[in-house]
Amino acid sequence: MARFGRSNLCRRKTEHMNRRRNRGIARIKTRKVAEAKLPTRLGRFRILGFESQGGVESAVALIIGQPQRARAPLVRIHSQCLTGDVLGSLRCDCGWQLQTALKQIAREKCGVLIYHLQEGRGIGLLNKLLAYELQDRGSDTVEANQQLGFAADARDYNICIDILKLLSIKQVRLLSNNPDKIAALERNTITVVERVPLVMKPSKMTRKYLAAKMKKMGHLLEGVA
Ligand SMILES: [Zn+2]
Repeated sequence: MARFGRSNLCRRKTEHMNRRRNRGIARIKTRKVAEAKLPTRLGRFRILGFESQGGVESAVALIIGQPQRARAPLVRIHSQCLTGDVLGSLRCDCGWQLQTALKQIAREKCGVLIYHLQEGRGIGLLNKLLAYELQDRGSDTVEANQQLGFAADARDYNICIDILKLLSIKQVRLLSNNPDKIAALERNTITVVERVPLVMKPSKMTRKYLAAKMKKMGHLLEGVA
């Protein structure tokens, strides 16, 4: 099956990273470009916009309270899922996780949600839709990515780590089921003092997806068969 390139953004990012590696520079430098109030149905957030050096990648952070003053604030790194977050798709648990994480942060009146623009576990929106075609014919979420020539999970968390550092957050209580996110933060000197699970009760439509994430990707999904 033909696949789309990893989107212009992904290609530009890879080229940029290769250039940086060739110059012996290990880390993307990220800067804050904007900050504004963002009242929502769930709480009165602030929204901060960030871009990596050269504008290769961008991300936003929704913040309530003064997380830099908390010992270990609640933090969610949420990877974009247009179909789940915006369109209400029942194929995955992303929309539920996004809303639940924002509610928990709003309830504590302190915390950060980083909205990370790496759709489809980093393969881009159109490739994710091609993966859905394969899943409609019987593949699971991991097999479909692999049949398209991608890793099961092609994300990196560099911009998220930069954002936490820019926010002076050194310890977190991470809202996540994904051990890769914990490892990525810990490798970069951000301590995960607690993992706060975000496990949706599986439905008929999400059961296979959640089971593949648990069995093949090591996600910590207690209660998912
Ligand atoms: Zn999703």
